[in-house]
Amino acid sequence: MLCSIVPKCLTLLPLWMIPALVGAHEHHHHGDRRLQQLLAQTPQGCGFHEPAVHEIYQLQAEQEERVARVEEEQFALKQRQYEQQQGGCSISFGGGGGGGGSAWNPGDGDDTGGSDGGGSGGGNDSGGGGGGGNWNSQVSIPTYIHAVSRTNGEGFLSDSTLNQSIQVANSLLSTAGFQINVISINRVQNDDWFQAQSGSAQEQDMQAKLKRGGINTLNIYFKLAVSGSSRFCGYAYLAEDAAAVGNGDGVTIDINCALDRTTVAHEVGHWLNLLHTFSGGCSPGDLVDDTNAQKSYYGRTSGACPNPLPDTCPNQPGPDPLNNIMDYAPLGCDDIFTKGQAQRMQEAWNNIRSR
Ligand SMILES: [Zn+2]
Repeated sequence: MLCSIVPKCLTLLPLWMIPALVGAHEHHHHGDRRLQQLLAQTPQGCGFHEPAVHEIYQLQAEQEERVARVEEEQFALKQRQYEQQQGGCSISFGGGGGGGGSAWNPGDGDDTGGSDGGGSGGGNDSGGGGGGGNWNSQVSIPTYIHAVSRTNGEGFLSDSTLNQSIQVANSLLSTAGFQINVISINRVQNDDWFQAQSGSAQEQDMQAKLKRGGINTLNIYFKLAVSGSSRFCGYAYLAEDAAAVGNGDGVTIDINCALDRTTVAHEVGHWLNLLHTFSGGCSPGDLVDDTNAQKSYYGRTSGACPNPLPDTCPNQPGPDPLNNIMDYAPLGCDDIFTKGQAQRMQEAWNNIRSR
């Protein structure tokens, strides 16, 4: 059985290392057994785990995927060295940079949403722009949660866990002027859907049957986030791809990352058209002016923020924006959206999602 989410004790091993431990002897067509092994490898008592890679883009070019895989392997090495130095479970769970998120009212189907999420959001120790700041009005995103588990109950997330997951996300999203407004929680037991690979026929079947609302409506699936032999914290499509992907438009969050400090906010950031801060390399970059240029990411480790900060684009101002929610950075770094990112999210809402 999977250990329950215990938000006190972090990551002996990030999920993205687990396939390497399970071994390369497994074949893809043993998907079900493999996934069970992945779950069985989850260290008991360390409730959730931070993969370095939060998601995949199904639309990205094959070449980019190859590059990403190489990077993942490199960061796996780095992570292994780091964990050996640190020992595990050293970081306590804490809310992200924002102030109080809005209250989450399951079943509250109206459109008021929360407006009390102030959020400090100020970047202090990391490069790359200030925080998104305070927004007087909050866009309320109508949201359906689909909590998918196995027929034997494995993967079940309690209302409390889902509640906390959304609250943490809202505390960050509020600094960019957004709130997830949960309309309903849909609980489903389906083995095929629970372990469906990204882009698979099983996932498409799930989305066709579960997805609700139009392009302005957020659907969040809590399940296993898997693609090929890798497991991720989550994945999402960009707003600009929403029409093209149809039922695929939405956010998938791995059950082990529901209480990750930034995963949900990060994926909703993509859903609102944000790129990674390292997307596009030093130029053209992430198409946001106030995030420092970044060629490659540091990695999602459990440790402190590196000091000095890396600077992978030395010919452009400032160090890498490891404080940014849209980076893959150590947990010790701050978690902010910049004003420019907030503006890009607002534009995506106004010009694509809410139309
Ligand atoms: Zn991402």
